[in-house]
Amino acid sequence: MKIVNDLNFRKQAKELGISMWKTPSFLFLLMGIITIVAMASVYYVSNFYESPEVLVIAESVVVITIFSIGNSIILEVERIARLNKMKSEFVSVASHQLRTPLSAIRWETELLLTKFGKGLSEKQKSGIETINLLAIRMTRLVSDLLDVARIDQGRLILKKSCFDLEKIVQETVHSLIVVAKGKNTNIIFKNSGTPVIVVGDAEKLRLAIENLISNAIKYTDGKGKVEVSVRKKNGFVIFSSKDNGVGIPDEQQSQVFNKFFRSDNAVKYQTEGTGLGLYIAKNIIEQSGGNIWFQSKEGIGSIFSFSLPLCSPVKARHFTAKAGSKHKA
Ligand code: ADP
Repeated sequence: MKIVNDLNFRKQAKELGISMWKTPSFLFLLMGIITIVAMASVYYVSNFYESPEVLVIAESVVVITIFSIGNSIILEVERIARLNKMKSEFVSVASHQLRTPLSAIRWETELLLTKFGKGLSEKQKSGIETINLLAIRMTRLVSDLLDVARIDQGRLILKKSCFDLEKIVQETVHSLIVVAKGKNTNIIFKNSGTPVIVVGDAEKLRLAIENLISNAIKYTDGKGKVEVSVRKKNGFVIFSSKDNGVGIPDEQQSQVFNKFFRSDNAVKYQTEGTGLGLYIAKNIIEQSGGNIWFQSKEGIGSIFSFSLPLCSPVKARHFTAKAGSKHKA
């Protein structure tokens, strides 16, 4: 299957936004064919002409040809890498610029609703509430785009510390109960009641957990059940979110953590979504020293899980000392 994909130059050219003869796979294949033809020709020439000069010239022509094609492959790969970098920088700058006006819209609409709410008609109030809701949604999208740009540029910086994962999960479940109720979904968190101290960036991991649980609610249709759990295993903590939702089709499961991926059944069922949440969650969890995985069956449901390293006394002392030295500075 991979070979068929590699040989589909038209598809590759479309994906990379370049002409077909410039795709690295095409140039690579061309180089292979030219090498075989050239070697056969050199052999033929060497059999035909006894003179070593002719042989040297023939070999030089082969080397120069291979060198030129190799050079065009490198130049094209460099050009694509440069364009990719420019795109990430553009997304980063545009997202930064959008943050300020969006915050202003949210601030002004919240002010209107709280301070002047009484003087507004129901229609005016509902209009302002819609603007506020859309501004919140856009702020989330802009912040996701910024995180993606940071990941792509290798600039996602995690502020690691030892923190109680169970508390964060509990708070997240609590904040999503209203959303779950609105979708007729029951959300259960089996907490152990004791702190579960892990290493990682607490705020970024809160986002990842929120994404996994809200996906479980979002992709579950009526009479839904979402079970969240946290347990310890071999020096790690395993978080799991199990739902009885729409699931992910088998043939699309390999793409789940890809940027912008949305499964066909999810798009039909839930039109809203960016396909960025799981990509960001995977990067945050892996950079924290953990792993993320899932099991899913279309029409039955999904279980999304991740592991994080438990905080050892040595690590706890390290983070306390670091925080102390920052405080002094
Ligand atoms: P979004 O939800 O905004 O589309 P995500 O990156 O969070 O983006 O998820 C990517 C895709 O993975 C979703 O569009 C959906 O197809 C699938 N997915 C994620 N979580 C679930 C789930 N709990 N049940 C079914 N499909 C899911």
